[in-house]
Amino acid sequence: MTATVHRAADAAPLAEGKDLPPSLHFIGGAFVDTAAERFTEVIDPSSEDVIARVPEGNREDVDRAVAAAVGAKEEWARLVPKERSEVLHAIADRLAEHTDVLVRLEAANTGKPLSVARDDVDGTIDTFRFIAGALRATTSMAAGDYVEDHLSVILREPLGVVGLVTPWNYPLMMAAWKIAPTLGAGNTLVIKPSEQTPLTTLKFAELVADLLPPGVVNVVTGDGPVVGARLAEHPDIAMIALTGSVGSGRAVARTAAESLKRVHLELGGKAPVVIFEDADLEAAAVALRTAGYWNSGQECGAACRVLVHASVADRFTEELVREVGKLIVGDPRAGEHVDIGPLVSKAHFDRVRGYLGRARSQGVRAAIGGSSLDGPGYFVAPTVLVDVPEGAEIAREEVFGPVVTVETFTDENEAIRRANDVPFGLSASVWTENARRSHAVAARLDAGTVWVNSHLVLANEVPWGGFKGSGYGRDLSLYALDDYSRTKHVMHHHGR
Ligand code: NAD
Repeated sequence: MTATVHRAADAAPLAEGKDLPPSLHFIGGAFVDTAAERFTEVIDPSSEDVIARVPEGNREDVDRAVAAAVGAKEEWARLVPKERSEVLHAIADRLAEHTDVLVRLEAANTGKPLSVARDDVDGTIDTFRFIAGALRATTSMAAGDYVEDHLSVILREPLGVVGLVTPWNYPLMMAAWKIAPTLGAGNTLVIKPSEQTPLTTLKFAELVADLLPPGVVNVVTGDGPVVGARLAEHPDIAMIALTGSVGSGRAVARTAAESLKRVHLELGGKAPVVIFEDADLEAAAVALRTAGYWNSGQECGAACRVLVHASVADRFTEELVREVGKLIVGDPRAGEHVDIGPLVSKAHFDRVRGYLGRARSQGVRAAIGGSSLDGPGYFVAPTVLVDVPEGAEIAREEVFGPVVTVETFTDENEAIRRANDVPFGLSASVWTENARRSHAVAARLDAGTVWVNSHLVLANEVPWGGFKGSGYGRDLSLYALDDYSRTKHVMHHHGR
């Protein structure tokens, strides 16, 4: 069975005119003229049309934005939690009022289906609401006398100015995961969205401009090695937080080492899905239809690497292929029924096709899919790959496309060893009806999140972040508020 691309008969743009934000940097509370000589074309990956042009920022643009953030930091840090919380709630309300335009803009810029874009926007709003509540509930550890006649008080303080760098797969939601705790903890910020997907971050700035003092949030568009690198380098920035690939994380950490600023990295993943012989195979296959292919598999936690017990491998693969065959590929304009959009760019499309081609030449077989689909647009068929030899490139590297590999194992120790045998450690899942085994295996999997009989279910209350090559630092939850603030001990001598 070959997938086809669903397209709209009337292909009117998803976002146009006033839907689009100004194509300018946002600095000091306003969109500012730029001396940029170069502009990046923003492409709709479903149609390959250019939908906007944004300035390629330079070091001077970053320095100007950092100066604005420095200027705003004292006033913002002085607000008591209740006041900052009210601002974050107001941001959530404002975003909720504009859900429709944010959904359409995100779908136009990334090609993601409307349902996925809506999930992103709903998640974004919930992140602001969660942090707005959480920041009022956090207290320091107990104060007390730990040395005779000395009272210790532990304070949580803002760091100052934080630099944020975000990827293209969830442009608005990844921005929110960083902006909300940064502001909640009392910092000001400069954010650089992915050069490929800047529109919803600029729209965010446009929508919330009147809710924040000027300089608290600044947006500079442009390339990673220029704008991102300057943020990592800038002496007035206290912390740099990046979500992106391992290479970018390494570059940022290296640059940040010079000024010893804090680094927070959410990098790639290659999540193993360990399915034991007693698992509910049908439930696993149904879950993977979503968890393996959500956002066209351009998802750091995607359930992309199945390790299934050899005794049930054929049955499971059959179930999975049946489920994957139901996925509807299409342009978001085709309607709400579309499950999977295109890949984000021509370069990424070529990269994924390269992986599929090399896998084929190594004897890996597609049980379904396995190739790209007719354009325009960068569509790849939802794919399940079998006959994958241990250590194959396709099962070790982050493909970041609608591609799931299926490998087999024969005992628990082998399953765990192979699950952990990749440089990443972001997430994993284990499928079994045996409670002892589910806990024992989860404990031994080297991943920041482990699901049992589930995959890719997230909540704002619980932390997200990786081990090993997937980086360090935590997004979401109280841990994020912690990461974006610093601890100070003040000791009072009160002896007479
Ligand atoms: P990318 O690394 O190419 O880009 C991410 C951001 O880093 C962009 O804004 C880019 O301009 C910037 N950048 C690139 N080089 C830089 C440099 N030298 N200095 C500073 N900034 C630089 O990643 P991408 O292709 O946009 O996103 C996909 C990657 O993101 C995947 O590897 C995926 O797994 C990862 N990701 C991780 C998480 C997570 O929570 N762990 C979430 C989403 C995406």
